[in-house]
Amino acid sequence: MKQLADDLYVLEGFPPYAINVYLVGEVLIDAATRFAARRILRRLRGRTVTLHALTHAHPDHQGASHAICAALGIPLWCGQADAGAMETAGEVMRRMPPHWLSATVGPLWTGPPHPVSRRLREGDQVGTFTVIETPGHTAGHVSFWRQADGVLVVGDVVCNLNIWNGRPMLREPERIFTLDPAQNRRSAARFLALEPKLVCFGHGPPLRDTRRFLAYVRSLTASGGHAATAAERPIAGLPDHLGVATPGAAATIRAVKTIGKTESPR
Ligand SMILES: [Zn+2]
Repeated sequence: MKQLADDLYVLEGFPPYAINVYLVGEVLIDAATRFAARRILRRLRGRTVTLHALTHAHPDHQGASHAICAALGIPLWCGQADAGAMETAGEVMRRMPPHWLSATVGPLWTGPPHPVSRRLREGDQVGTFTVIETPGHTAGHVSFWRQADGVLVVGDVVCNLNIWNGRPMLREPERIFTLDPAQNRRSAARFLALEPKLVCFGHGPPLRDTRRFLAYVRSLTASGGHAATAAERPIAGLPDHLGVATPGAAATIRAVKTIGKTESPR
């Protein structure tokens, strides 16, 4: 567990920062994939954890939620519009845009449903953080903001990882996993007023460069869209919306499955 700020830790996954889980005071934010439950519980040993909160109900964030809440006997909170996905079997995948990659990997990673004790709304307090409603990637995506030291937990509104090559890079979440990309961009624009000193992502290493973060968010909103540069484009041969698997696609599926599997301790 690595300390990033006062009372804020990131639980390392494997590969490092591929899928992030945070401990904020006594609150566990996100829970990676179904395969991560034992690792997360082991890392939390000796810590006081009284609450689990989600940025959003996607398989790489809610996968271990049920197992962790059950093991620790703690309640689960998430954004009000994601609560239905968290509580209903099959609903996480049903709410995702149809695509061969999510259809292949999603069901493997998705955790069982779990009752949501509190449906979060704008301005709610979660530990020392305040909820900002940031829909788009999912309908009920929320971010967490701590004014006192300028810490922002953005979930997948913005990512700092190119999932196709594993390198840190500010990016929008993949469209193939995003319910409403235009709405997600409008949500990202809300960060411009915050001037965060530390940004914690669902994917990718934390960023302390406020100017770079804000410039990126501004570029998304100013252009009304973000055309991927050559370096950002998915690997060659990857079908985007074709719904068919090519040899390149098969390699991608293997790579993504490996990330989930290696999370589980041996
Ligand atoms: Zn994610």
